[in-house]
Amino acid sequence: MKLVYHEEYVTPLPEGHRFPMPKFAKVNSILRSEGIATSENTYSPESADVALLTHLHTPAYVESFLSGEIDAKALRRIGLPWSEGLTRRTRRAVGGTLLTARLALRHGLACNAAGGTHHAHPGFGSGFCIFNDIAVAARSLVDEGAVSRILVVDLDVHQGDGTAAAFADDPRVFTFSMHCESNFPFRKTPGDYDIGLPDGMQDAEYLSRLEAELPQLIEHVEPQLVIYDAGVDVYAGDRLGRLSLSLDGIYQRDSYVIGECRRRGVAVAGVIGGGYDQDLDALAHRHCMLHRAAFEHHSRVNKQDTQKAG
Ligand SMILES: [Zn+2]
Repeated sequence: MKLVYHEEYVTPLPEGHRFPMPKFAKVNSILRSEGIATSENTYSPESADVALLTHLHTPAYVESFLSGEIDAKALRRIGLPWSEGLTRRTRRAVGGTLLTARLALRHGLACNAAGGTHHAHPGFGSGFCIFNDIAVAARSLVDEGAVSRILVVDLDVHQGDGTAAAFADDPRVFTFSMHCESNFPFRKTPGDYDIGLPDGMQDAEYLSRLEAELPQLIEHVEPQLVIYDAGVDVYAGDRLGRLSLSLDGIYQRDSYVIGECRRRGVAVAGVIGGGYDQDLDALAHRHCMLHRAAFEHHSRVNKQDTQKAG
């Protein structure tokens, strides 16, 4: 199991800003302290350059954001104050998801300690999302012929509208989003398959819905790679959520997605997605369910292989 992290994932925001920027470094330090991330299995991504970003995003939008000349209205829609550091952060996170996907294709399973900026559309950013790491990675891998079919499994509580828009006319990437219907974005962009859940759904119902959908979806799409957005804003106490999953429910969800893909031989690249809480340690711990589920899957498979070999 491979992990991807870079210290540039964090850049300072004004005091009291509601986007929980420090969580990315906290995720990495929890994974280090638990022995899930080591210097051997953790990889450092390159920064996404303009050529990579414009695989998906319009040159005008990329240029306006990177130069800082983006207009006030477009920036308000993103909801983050522009800074040089923010451009570095967002480029590094996009590079991180592309590297995660490449590592997944080589090794079967890899997770980023950031990523999931799924509200970014080709021509504009939205909802704390500047460039769409999932969509840039997917588009660039199919364009270069590394894979012919990708399935995006987006289980963040918010619908993946930017990713849906990016692949509306591209059959090589199938977009699946299961989210809270009443939540942001209020005007949804239809993806290939969308499930809008009612407010307040709890573990048992949520997991049984996922179990009813995911296996047939993988079999229908036949992807070589799944890019999995494991947003933890489905958590009961999330500030921007509206669903009611427990911490254990999130862990079970992540284990299930990884297991269903891997037992069919499909590579999985996981990104952390959204999660909003004033308690940053609790939030980071919640995000680490993805990496822990991946780590435990990997350990279990290795053990089985060793037993078979023995
Ligand atoms: Zn979200």
